[in-house]
Amino acid sequence: MRRWIPIVIAATVALTTTSPASASLTPANATAAWPTSANPMAASVASANVTMASSAGATSRGVNCARVKCIALTFDDGPGPYTAKLLDLLREHRTKVTFFLVGQRVGKYAKTTRRMARDGHEIGNHTYTHPHLTSLLDDQVRDQIGRTQDAIHRATGKEPRLMRPPYGDTDERVGAIAAEMGLPQILWNGSSRDWELRNTGAVTKKVLGLAKRDRVILMHDIWPETVKAMPKILTTLEKKGYHVVPVTSLLRGTQLTAGEIYPVGGWN
Ligand SMILES: [Zn+2]
Repeated sequence: MRRWIPIVIAATVALTTTSPASASLTPANATAAWPTSANPMAASVASANVTMASSAGATSRGVNCARVKCIALTFDDGPGPYTAKLLDLLREHRTKVTFFLVGQRVGKYAKTTRRMARDGHEIGNHTYTHPHLTSLLDDQVRDQIGRTQDAIHRATGKEPRLMRPPYGDTDERVGAIAAEMGLPQILWNGSSRDWELRNTGAVTKKVLGLAKRDRVILMHDIWPETVKAMPKILTTLEKKGYHVVPVTSLLRGTQLTAGEIYPVGGWN
């Protein structure tokens, strides 16, 4: 039942969570409200909509998460020097994941980004320079998201249809801009804390400990220890009967609305 903890708790954790792209920064908006989702009732309703979605829809890969045990692994802050290695491994395991890319890195790793798309992974927008979006002006938020859409479009020929605010730092205003740009906001309900652990064994243990049906796990492919942890993570999840899927496969074929936050109501 941990998934149903009101989003207020999630917001608190999100705002105190740092991420490797600027680990030295202290969240500037630790006390900022999260008006869209601060109302537990609203969060429950939204969550119910998501989790009670049609159980009939299989994904394009043929994995039907209504029938089998799925888990979504999501990789933020890349592409980077270890991403290609991760793509090799995912190919070996015939596994698709979701990458949330930082726009300013895409040009340097355009080939890797193209391959990511070609291999069938899901690509999301993680802003251009990884700022705290709630501390920016509206036009700066639009610029962060828009430039990243453009960079990914240049590399892959397609624009992302998802975004993840850095640090999970969002509010009603950022949500409205995401909505205006047609992008649902994807958070997570299991954090590997890999940027803190920086140890292959510890990351492996942490992620396997978080494994639970339909969880969205936060990881970072910019850390070599994380990529090194992946063979054992994938092998163990497979043994336990999990299907590792891109995050939208958890939705069983239903669509998130632009600006909507998913997953709602949980943290770990
Ligand atoms: Zn990040």
